[in-house]
Amino acid sequence: MKIIDIITGDKPSLSFEVFPPKTSATYESVMKAAGAIADLHPSYMSVTYGAGGGTSQYTMEIAQFLQSKGVTPLAHLSCVSSTKEDVAQKLVELKERGIENVLALRGDIPEGLDMTSLDYHYASELTREIRGAGDFCIGGACYPEVHPDSLNSVEDIRHLKEKVDAGCQFLVTQMFFDNNIFYNFLRRVREAGITVPVIPGIMPVTNAKQIKRSIALSGNSLPQRFRYIIDRYGDKPAAMKQAGIIYASEQIVDLYANGINAVHVYSMNKPDVAAALQSNLSEIIW
Ligand code: FAD
Repeated sequence: MKIIDIITGDKPSLSFEVFPPKTSATYESVMKAAGAIADLHPSYMSVTYGAGGGTSQYTMEIAQFLQSKGVTPLAHLSCVSSTKEDVAQKLVELKERGIENVLALRGDIPEGLDMTSLDYHYASELTREIRGAGDFCIGGACYPEVHPDSLNSVEDIRHLKEKVDAGCQFLVTQMFFDNNIFYNFLRRVREAGITVPVIPGIMPVTNAKQIKRSIALSGNSLPQRFRYIIDRYGDKPAAMKQAGIIYASEQIVDLYANGINAVHVYSMNKPDVAAALQSNLSEIIW
């Protein structure tokens, strides 16, 4: 099934993300976690693509496994470390595996990489290529708090429009912890003439160290309300996990209440967290 049909239906969509193992040593445990999340029957599941593409095989395998369990997969594909031949071959493989949905990404640029020698510089180039390769439903990433490479949000949204014009049918946001940031972003995106669905990405923070690392990498802001939670429960793992799930649940309820019909959860390969969130929302997502 195409993700665009899922997220534009009447039923509110709640989807989860898994990431592939970095090495074969954790393959079984990741498959087990992905299977357990799939057993919750989410609207769809995304499978990330390891930076550099070294674990791309796992992305494909997990996506196909989810499909075999009746859950629509969204396979991420990044291009910055790939040649045109690599991408063409990946697209053939996706088709052979029956995977219809792709999140087209540039990927982070490894330090010292000479951009002039690359086949791809931006996700819009990959998007165009995927669109030309067949009947894929294509998504793209977006950044309510501005991508770190951009000078400002006007420039970032101008490039986002180019990506949508190249063929992205929906967008998924980087995580954020204050819904007003998302609502403001959405307004600016619409003003720029971008009309495709924008799916907010929500991260249930279940451990204080993890969030400090993520925030340092993404440059995202943490509201004071959330900082107090970390101050109080950061060194009490069970309490931090519970507070993080409640905080994310409240964000999601607010999003649905404000007319957003599709929410994506960065579930970090944690079936218990995905299950707790889904249970908190059981009457809301029917
Ligand atoms: P782009 O859309 O190409 O944008 C990158 C930067 O370039 C932006 O600042 C943009 O404004 C600018 N830009 C775009 N076009 C132009 C242009 N023509 N001229 C000048 N500047 C331009 N990474 C992974 O490695 N694997 C994953 O699975 C993965 N999944 C992700 C999922 C989501 C929902 C998000 C939000 C991010 C994900 N990432 C993933 C991270 C992503 O790869 C990085 O943030 C990367 O640096 C940018 O990728 P992009 O596709 O957004 O790039």
